[in-house]
Amino acid sequence: MSLRNWSENIRFESGALHTPRTVEALQEIVRASRKVRVLGARHSFNDAAAIDGQIDVDGTQEVTGEASWAYISLEELNTPVTFDHERGTVTCSGGITYGELCMRMHAEGVALHNTASLPHITVAGACSTATHGSGDGNGNLATAVAGLEIVTADGELKTLSLEEDGETFEGSVVALGGLGVVTRMTLATQPAYSMQQYVYEDLPSAALYENFDEIMSGAYSVSLFPDWQGDKVNQVWFKHRTGLMGGRGNGEEAGLEPVDLGLPSELHGATAAATDLHPVPGFSTEGLTVQMGAPGAWHDRLHHFQIDSTPASGDELQTEYFVPRRYAVPAVQAVEGLRHRFKGMLWISEIRTVAADRLWLSQSYGTPTVGIHFSWRKNWPAVREAMPLVEEALAPFEVRPHWGKLFTISPEAVQAAYPRMDDFRALLESMDPDGKFRNGYLDRFIFG
Ligand SMILES: Cc1cc2nc3c(=O)[nH]c(=O)nc-3n(C[C@H](O)[C@H](O)[C@H](O)COP(=O)(O)OP(=O)(O)OC[C@H]3O[C@@H](n4cnc5c(N)ncnc54)[C@H](O)[C@@H]3O)c2cc1C
Repeated sequence: MSLRNWSENIRFESGALHTPRTVEALQEIVRASRKVRVLGARHSFNDAAAIDGQIDVDGTQEVTGEASWAYISLEELNTPVTFDHERGTVTCSGGITYGELCMRMHAEGVALHNTASLPHITVAGACSTATHGSGDGNGNLATAVAGLEIVTADGELKTLSLEEDGETFEGSVVALGGLGVVTRMTLATQPAYSMQQYVYEDLPSAALYENFDEIMSGAYSVSLFPDWQGDKVNQVWFKHRTGLMGGRGNGEEAGLEPVDLGLPSELHGATAAATDLHPVPGFSTEGLTVQMGAPGAWHDRLHHFQIDSTPASGDELQTEYFVPRRYAVPAVQAVEGLRHRFKGMLWISEIRTVAADRLWLSQSYGTPTVGIHFSWRKNWPAVREAMPLVEEALAPFEVRPHWGKLFTISPEAVQAAYPRMDDFRALLESMDPDGKFRNGYLDRFIFG
């Protein structure tokens, strides 16, 4: 059976698939292979994980390959999850999904600072592309990483940490799979906390533009869901932190008392939802994390989708662009100006905020950002035509695309958007001089 990504627009057939159970076996595979790429949960929408992939929505792409090319999945790698409560860290396999990690962490009474919309992605795969959630004070998921263990191109095991390796570490966390196989990761933890999630409907666009900062700072994590039609944001999701879990573990959330946050029934013209809502009108809320202010654990509210859910259908393509926070309103207005071009093409958009960080290839390197995301219906010719229009509209705002989603911005423009790009290129060359982990994607966007 052909191995594809979640959206089934990329094929991974140009190398044999290996699922090593030990780090030693993995090292052997890396030593013996001429080309290597690691597959995470295969949720990226472009060829970031492919050895030589191209976008292939209609299945006509010719796949070439060589016997010595290897895909590696860490699904079967036997790595324990360990906690250091004194330092406030958890160490886990790079191939663990956030869903599994969150459950293990919660049982231990600790939490992450943030999560993406869904728990099905792997920690290494997500951090490699600077995957993010939302919240003015929250860095992307890679900002929690305090240490890495990597099998490098020569098959050796290398450890890197912020404490020991400083700047090199800051270049190594968001590395697009180019430095080697990330086998273990150490992440910062904090005491497990409780949250309550609320949704408001129909925020007038004018009110958003007038009160953008107030609205986006209105909770620990805030998401706007516009479909750009009708001068309004369809839904605003507020995820509030309400306290500590106080020793409650998995399954014990039922005893949590709701905290009265005194929220109004109307907010800048938007009204509090009377029932749970899916961001896409008409879709079932089954599988979504609970709304309407019901108290729950951090991982049961930060994700939009529950850990045991099967979210969405794969019948979509995603694009996301980041601009510095100071351009938030004009950038969102520029996108809204294209709304006649999106009619009938979108499931929904999502706007989130991300705090600044120091990771060289993070879209929020050196600046807080606003991410403007598009869940397109799966019509590749139409999406391919729409993307450059959005990119042109956002070009005046120092735009950076999401590394794991679709975009058509030129390699020159992508490279120019990252002040540490030369340093990153030099880091890749020093760790992988023969280009074992280099793929078509890195050739285009980093070396092209
Ligand atoms: C339904 C859906 C919802 C999404 N929601 C969000 C969201 O809320 N926020 C957001 O920012 N993004 C979101 N994304 C995008 C997604 O988070 C990223 O594409 C992420 O990189 C996927 O992680 P993965 O485990 O599937 O990695 P993959 O897509 O398999 O791989 C991504 C990259 O990481 C590399 N890699 C994977 N594992 C390793 C490893 N162990 N060592 C070295 N390199 C490795 C791969 O080679 C590749 O370059 C969403 C995607 C989908 C399909």
